Amino acid sequence: MVVSTLPIRTYGDPVLNMPTTEIENIDAKVAALAESMIETMQEAPGVGLAANQIGVQKRLFVYDKGDGPHVVVNPVIVETSGEWVYEEGCLSVPGLSWEIVRPNAVHLKGYDLDGNELDIETDEYEGRIFQHECDHLDGVLLVERLTDEQKKEAKKYLRKRRFNLSHDEDGLHQLLGE
Ligand SMILES: [Zn+2]
Repeated sequence: MVVSTLPIRTYGDPVLNMPTTEIENIDAKVAALAESMIETMQEAPGVGLAANQIGVQKRLFVYDKGDGPHVVVNPVIVETSGEWVYEEGCLSVPGLSWEIVRPNAVHLKGYDLDGNELDIETDEYEGRIFQHECDHLDGVLLVERLTDEQKKEAKKYLRKRRFNLSHDEDGLHQLLGE
């Protein structure tokens, strides 16, 4: 299969703030999309990628926690518990990361590319990936998980750095909630 990498959308791009829709048929098109997403994630490189990060508003993410790529179609987090602090970054917010508090244990349900039901209970690193990617699919970026103090620091940092991409001005306002 010929696959290719796709440009990753960065903050300020409205596709990142729009919730995705469920996939009705897990067919060859979905498999091809997943392949491109895996290649895009590996080239970035990153540990997870949600479909809307490449501009496809479908409920699907890929991830690789170090044991090879996985695909989850129509993922839903059905339960979380505990609390865990982890320094989190995002391919759509390049060059920045923050220590973010989220639940630790995660129970995820979804489907693989063969249509088999997935039912995964995990925690820490993998649990964090699942929460981050499901957030993306709900139209939520990690900057919305920052504390007020972290937002203030980000604001200072970004002003100093003076982004030079055309969408950055909008993205900056969005990031800082101005
Ligand atoms: Zn991300």
